[in-house]
Amino acid sequence: MSKRQLAMVMDLNKCIGCQTCTVACKTQWTNRNGREYMYWNNVETFPGEGYPKNWQNLGGGFDEAGDLKDGTIPNLEGNYGVPWDFNHDEVAQSKPFSPEQDPKWGPNWDEDEGAGQFPQDNYFFYIPRICNHCDNPGCLSACPRDAIFKRDADGVVLVDLDRCQGYRYCIAGCPYKKIYFNPKISKSEKCILCFPRIEKGLPPACAQQCVGRIRLVGFLDDETSQVHQLVKKHKVALPLRSDFNTGANIYYIPPVLAPPKYDAHGKIIENSTRIPKEELETLFGEDVHRVIKTLKGELENRANNKESEILDMLIGFKHKEMFKLDSNYYAEEFGMKPVDARYFKGKNTLKFTSFKAVH
Ligand code: SF4
Ligand code: SF4
Repeated sequence: MSKRQLAMVMDLNKCIGCQTCTVACKTQWTNRNGREYMYWNNVETFPGEGYPKNWQNLGGGFDEAGDLKDGTIPNLEGNYGVPWDFNHDEVAQSKPFSPEQDPKWGPNWDEDEGAGQFPQDNYFFYIPRICNHCDNPGCLSACPRDAIFKRDADGVVLVDLDRCQGYRYCIAGCPYKKIYFNPKISKSEKCILCFPRIEKGLPPACAQQCVGRIRLVGFLDDETSQVHQLVKKHKVALPLRSDFNTGANIYYIPPVLAPPKYDAHGKIIENSTRIPKEELETLFGEDVHRVIKTLKGELENRANNKESEILDMLIGFKHKEMFKLDSNYYAEEFGMKPVDARYFKGKNTLKFTSFKAVH
């Protein structure tokens, strides 16, 4: 555990699956140099296979006794999909726009497919996923080189690129499969929670750019922060797959409202819900039903012109009310030498600097 912990709350009721967060992260951190297939932020359709494909069943995390569980390293062809380009040059010669390769899988391959039968009971929703900056990271425990560390100041989990030798135990150990292997430099890389931005009091790029304004960011121990109030006070935000036992610090407001099911004659089935309760329990645990009940109560309050502190927070009227970050804290903690030396000052980082010139 770190001294303090940053956290993010994502409201799944507001995610429109536009992938703006994905692009914000990709253009900032992973659009080249061995990172082409990496999506530190991805938005997947649930139910679906996710990214990497079948990640929920690839092992890692901890068992009830606290022992690290075996995990599998996803492969490029089958689980991630080989990144491809499009034939932009040929389009100018009136050829149809198409991929240059013959892709078999990739991020969002099954986007919007969902489950059920249209129009009776089809359903899906979006789940944006980033590294959970876990209290007890499976990646960190699995690394035999001690190359992964959790910052005491804010709980951000980072890879020390000088220590990493590319063994990839971390990828097997992470049950969320949110750490990736960069074949160009033989190192593991992952979401850094945009710590250079955070240290300046700015929200992560994925949160700042979010069109649906679904993401709230702050310190869990800051009682004035929305993340504290939603996670600790009102207890309406839940971690994803808490049964992985890593102590995830990205929290979700589960989907609350959906259309009812229709019978064979097109009539509404009263009190029906399209998302099977077992599926919600798998993702968010049995507590999900209490949360949904609470949120429905809040919606009813609002419909009756009553106050709702929870809904006011979730609406996200202003950015400054959604992100409670503190550059002064970092200034005091790091003496305004923000960037973690173990991440940015090593010989491998120099390689990244030279990458920047190659577009
Ligand atoms: Fe490590 Fe995975 Fe947890 Fe991120 S989500 S801290 S990569 S175990
Ligand atoms: Fe990417 Fe930053 Fe969001 Fe992490 S916090 S997924 S690095 S944009």
